Amino acid sequence: MNASPAPTTSLDLGGTTLTYVPDGEFRAEPAVAYPSGHEDLFTDGLDVVDENGMLVLSVGALLLTTGDRRVLVDAGIGARTIPLVRPGTTRDAYMRGGTLLQNLHEIGVEPDEVDAVLLTHLHADHVGWLGDESADGAPTFPNAEYWVTDEEREFWSRPEHDGDPVGPRPHELRIVDARRRHLVEGSEPVEGVRAVRTAGHTPGHVAFSVAGTRARALVVGDAVHCPAEVLHPGMAWVGDHDAATAARTREGLADRVARDGAVLVGPHFPDAVFRRYDPAATPPLTPHAA
Ligand SMILES: [Zn+2]
Repeated sequence: MNASPAPTTSLDLGGTTLTYVPDGEFRAEPAVAYPSGHEDLFTDGLDVVDENGMLVLSVGALLLTTGDRRVLVDAGIGARTIPLVRPGTTRDAYMRGGTLLQNLHEIGVEPDEVDAVLLTHLHADHVGWLGDESADGAPTFPNAEYWVTDEEREFWSRPEHDGDPVGPRPHELRIVDARRRHLVEGSEPVEGVRAVRTAGHTPGHVAFSVAGTRARALVVGDAVHCPAEVLHPGMAWVGDHDAATAARTREGLADRVARDGAVLVGPHFPDAVFRRYDPAATPPLTPHAA
């Protein structure tokens, strides 16, 4: 089996539904993605690479529906390809998006019906659909508020991030700032959805704990990129801003999910973004049965 980007998939938590909505995909050289060692990608029978041995990550957003609310967690990469060329590598590594709005339309959601966007962090592959660069930065989701932490917003204001290809573009920051809500640990931007500080990948990264009447889920954002990182939290992703903090955060998230039985939602996971983690089971990490 080879890994593929995840398809549109829903998880009914009771009164609240989470739907993974694809935008595109991400392919990376394993040795580049994990510069301090990638051998653990292959020790647990996880399918995480394609037929060429490239690491496969899904890129998309999560749609959360509860009552009459329609909320996105992150906003994909947009209709573009960002090359991820690193010195010394020859294979074609990239992040590519383009299908998010069409996929939302296919499940009956139009952009003006989205009333909030909860941002785990502000990397390019999480804010790419916020606005149209060519239309004076008009917001894609005209009725949405944007929830992001102050730490994250401040980080991307620093002059050293101007023009950073993996950061937010100026029009995206303007759109967020115009209707920004301040997210902190424990914030409940939507009933049953709580922010969980998970710094490390970026300084202001948050996960979201989602409680339905029957089950709960934890949307980990980029605190965990690949399922292998759940089993090996010390695996350091190349893009982690603070590798030691990111490793501690991953360990804490894995422990939390093992303890409370929440469905682990890894928006970058290939094939299945919804997974069960039970360290006592064999295998410990399995796709969540729909
Ligand atoms: Zn990402």
